[in-house]
Amino acid sequence: MSTVLQLSQVTKSYASAALDRIDFSLPDNAYISLLGPSGSGKTTLLRVIAGFEEPDTGSILFHGKRLDGVEPHDRGIGFVFQNFALFPHLSVAENVAFGLRNRKVDPVTDARALAKRVQDMLSLVGLKGFDDRAVTQISGGQRQRVALARTLVTEPKMVLLDEPLGALDANLRGRMRSELKIIRERCGVTFLHVTGSESEALAMGDLVLVLDHGRIAQAAASDVIYNRPATAAVARFLNCYNLFAGNVVEDTFVGQAGRFPLNGSRRKAPQPAYAIRYDRISIRTRDAALSNDEVRIEGDFIASEYSGAAVNSFFALDDGHVFEVESHLSHARPPAFVEKDRYALVWKKEDALVFG
Ligand code: ADP
Ligand code: MG
Repeated sequence: MSTVLQLSQVTKSYASAALDRIDFSLPDNAYISLLGPSGSGKTTLLRVIAGFEEPDTGSILFHGKRLDGVEPHDRGIGFVFQNFALFPHLSVAENVAFGLRNRKVDPVTDARALAKRVQDMLSLVGLKGFDDRAVTQISGGQRQRVALARTLVTEPKMVLLDEPLGALDANLRGRMRSELKIIRERCGVTFLHVTGSESEALAMGDLVLVLDHGRIAQAAASDVIYNRPATAAVARFLNCYNLFAGNVVEDTFVGQAGRFPLNGSRRKAPQPAYAIRYDRISIRTRDAALSNDEVRIEGDFIASEYSGAAVNSFFALDDGHVFEVESHLSHARPPAFVEKDRYALVWKKEDALVFG
């Protein structure tokens, strides 16, 4: 697989470092998710790649060529903004034609050629027949498609999307995920999709980059990120791990919430963290037997939440933290737990992750 974009030691500081020695390579013809909480530097990273900002240090290679000093419109990189940024006084077709007619390099002025390109693009994004509509008279999902078409019509060699689904309601967001993937496959270029949603990042990315305080904390396939988060911060962003702070003493992790025997895989580090995924935990009565390879903690049942194929149950631990357990209904429907009753929460030693 060839590389489309390569960043080496890219740093950008405002009052403090927004991007801190960013290194990564992106494959051509792929869907890449960039996940990070608000303020982690996602937008800054896209703006630096697009050329709206220059990095303080480091280099960016696009198809093997350095981008330093290249104007944004000369980079061959498209940008889709979160708020769509459409021209409200122009129709759907005029919005899409705008970029093509007005671009600096090779503008398309022939009316028939222009109309054909716009038509092709509207079909590609599923907006055939919407040409003359005002962009104020279409739905949010349709506006998103217009924004995408307006970028794609200029035939960028890569597309940057800044939280493209953030302004849509939950229902539409789900549908647009698969739409975006299909549209990208049709164009055959790399999409770099920024999101604060872990489920969106994991569902969409062939490769997922995780940004934490301006640094790439992990770059891997979804299943690797999900099963093997590289740091406690990545595990926290994923929203599917119970995390404990504490210390490793001999072969035991000692935290405020309890002592967890380890699997011989101890890790010495200044501030270790212990993580166990919500769906790797079983809920038992307090007198249930425990086998040698298991770890146990007790908690008072708070409530359960049903969500389609799973039920999530919440327990209050003695140190005040809330502990979450996800039970998949395909296994067996968990019994109804009694509020404020105490239960044993059990997992296998080998399923826990200990971070340095
Ligand atoms: P994200 O998109 O992940 O929410 P941003 O890239 O917008 O994060 O911001 C990263 C950090 O850089 C934040 O601390 C933000 O306040 C700061 N920042 C971003 N843009 C500017 C700017 N133009 N001037 C000063 N600080 C900025
Ligand atoms: Mg942002």
